[in-house]
This record gives sequence, C-alpha cells and structure tokens, in this order.
Amino acid sequence: SPATVTSALLPGSTLGVMGGGQLGRMFVHAAQAMGYFTAVLDPDADSPAGRVSHHHIHSDYLDGDGLARLSKLADAITTEFENVPAQALASLAGDRPVAPGAQAVGIAQDRILEKAHFTRCAAASGVGCAPYAVIESAEQLAAVSPSLLPGILKTARMGYDGKGQQSVHSAAELARAWEATGRVPCVLEQRLPLAAECSVIVARSRDGQSVHFPVQRNLHKDGILAVTEVHEQVLDAGLARQAVAAAVSVADGLDYVGVLCIEFFVLADGSLVINEMAPRPHNSGHYTLDACDVSQFDLQVRTLAGLPLVAPRQHSPVIMLNLLGDLWFARGSNQQVEPPWDRVLALPGTHLHLYGKTEARRGRKMGHLNITGADVAQMRETAAQAASLLG
Ligand code: ADP
Ligand code: MG
Repeated sequence: SPATVTSALLPGSTLGVMGGGQLGRMFVHAAQAMGYFTAVLDPDADSPAGRVSHHHIHSDYLDGDGLARLSKLADAITTEFENVPAQALASLAGDRPVAPGAQAVGIAQDRILEKAHFTRCAAASGVGCAPYAVIESAEQLAAVSPSLLPGILKTARMGYDGKGQQSVHSAAELARAWEATGRVPCVLEQRLPLAAECSVIVARSRDGQSVHFPVQRNLHKDGILAVTEVHEQVLDAGLARQAVAAAVSVADGLDYVGVLCIEFFVLADGSLVINEMAPRPHNSGHYTLDACDVSQFDLQVRTLAGLPLVAPRQHSPVIMLNLLGDLWFARGSNQQVEPPWDRVLALPGTHLHLYGKTEARRGRKMGHLNITGADVAQMRETAAQAASLLG
C-alpha cells in the first residue's frame, strides 16, 4: 500500500524531485527558502536543478539504485518532468509519499487517456475537448471521419512544445503523417479557429481542498509559449470562472495531489475548449513568482509537505516574456552573446530569472522575464522597452 503523510513534513525535512530542469530548480529554490533540504534525481550531471540542490542523484529515472538512494534521502517526492516514467513514481510510492501520484501522471502522459478523462469531466463542467479520433491501427485510420479535417495529428506520448505534431488536410496526407510517426498511437484533432489561448494553475491537497491562481492568457510562437499576460483585462470574467471550474473538476476526478496546469482554447464564438494538462508547475505559471503572494512552486512545496493551502492573491498586473536561446544570437550576432541584462534591469518592475544553462540554443528555454507595474499601461510600456532592448 502507498506510503502516506499523516502529519505535515515541517521545514528541516528533505523534499525530493524527479527531474532536474528549470521547473525542478524553481521548486528547489522555493523549498530551500522555507528551510527544507532538497534532493534531485536527474540523468544529466549538470542539470539546472541539480546544480542548486543539497543532494543530486545522478542516475537514470528507472535505475533501481538511484531510486533507492532518492527514497532514502527524501521524506516525500514530487516530479517536475512530465515524462518521468509513471512506473518509477509507482515504485517510489511504496516507500515514500509521492505527489502527484503515478496514476495521474500516467494519464497526463498519454493524450488518449487524457482526452478520455476530459470527456468524463465534461459531463459535469460543460467544457469538452476538440473533436478527435484515436488512431492506433490501420482500421481506425481508415474509419476517421472527414469532418475532423483539416486537423492536427498528435502522437499520444512524448509531445511537448509542438513536437510530435503534424498538420494534415486530406485523408492521404493523414495516412502519410501516421506512417511518418512509425504508426505509433496518435490522436487526430480537428483544427479549431482559436481566438485566444489561456491556462490555469490549480493546487490540490491530500484532503481534497483546491486553490487556484488567476487565469492567464498565453501567446505561442512556433508551438512554444512566448508571452503570458495576467490581469483583469485579459479574459472575460465568465470564461475565467468556467475555466477554473473545469480545471478543479479535472483535478478532483483524478484525486490529484499537487500542482496541475490545464490549458484551454477560446474559440472565435467565445466558447471554451480544454486542450491538455501538465501534472506539475507550468511555464505559463512563472508569473506567479513575482506577481502573486505565493508562487506555483510554493504551493508545490506545500502540497507535497502536507502544509495548509491558502488562496493565492495577485498583487500586480504582469507580463512574462519567455527567454529562448535565440536571444543570445539576436542583434546581428552569429556567436553566443549575453543579452544586455544590465539595461533591461534598469527598467522598473523587471524580474529576471535565468536557469543556469551555459549553452544557448535556438528554441531552448534559457529563462524568463516577469514585468510588473502599478497598472496595465505602465507594465505594457516597460514590456515594450524590454522587448526592444532584447530584439
Ligand atoms: P504541446 O504538448 O506541444 O503543448 P498542444 O496540444 O498544446 O501540444 O499544441 C500546441 C499548440 O498548437 C497549442 O498551444 C495551439 O496553439 C496549437 N493547437 C493544438 N491543437 C490545436 C487545435 N485542435 N486547433 C488549433 N490549434 C491547435
Ligand atoms: Mg500545450
């Protein structure tokens, strides 16, 4: 039977995290600020989180020895990387509390299971997903309804930042696209007319209590999140309430423990469609670090340690700019050049977060810049100045 926490793990305990990327790094920062010790398991010897953690277990996610060392060091374990094998979490859960659990992570890792869960929740929340078909066999491919075209073929597993997706316009193109995946399990989704994209971060405790951050509006470029903006003007209040209710019903339906991000589409006709979920803090929630009185990483610590949850309060309008490796090659340079952070930081309300990655590559997430202001107009003015310094 799974290990459970009966009372809170207080500061001085050790919190473990599977995965050593930037999300793990910010979890480690939040945990250490509260007085916890941290342990990171990651196969990369020089990972962003491993570099700042008290303990770094340098091992593969399925390595029995590495997992045993993690569960010896850590009093409770979370995950920052969506594709940590669910079976690794299941094996850790025999010794230590693990949140989120292997079952919820396993569903979030597989678009077919994820959409089935969303469809079950839609009965209560009224927010469904895009029309889709599961394609796992040649028979299912042949039976696809032409009403789903033009569509987007997405591999069921291992997709992120638009990877594993192909745009298809005809049955012949769909067949070629599925061949190109190596005939792995996929979903074909109807391409919807998007008016906007938004997401919401929910945190849910072991006793089933949920809190949430305000709904954020997201802008993607080439399949990667570019800008998140959060204040009263970004989204109709009724839509925001609907998104929060749908997100909470998804979390409740999984008996989820931890931080969960749900992404939505807003369609041209003003209706809301649920897109996907991430069983961890999310890039679109990084604004919470500087614009809210608790961050998504603080709530990840609280849910893992069994500490009380409090409803977050946003105290400033905010824009987050993702800092991709491309910026290191901008301003006419062929070589990696550090952007002019000194000039960016001279602007009021700029909060720089870099993840400690030494090598910049195009499309690689190097950090983010949160920009807060006394009001929306001032914040946007600062964001425009920052963007022109970086561009
Ligand atoms: P990822 O795991 O790569 O984030 P998503 O399913 O969120 O995959 O797709 C990435 C982006 O592609 C979305 O944020 C959206 O801009 C676009 N997209 C995905 N599915 C659809 C769809 N059915 N209709 C229109 N645009 C879509
Ligand atoms: Mg997405």
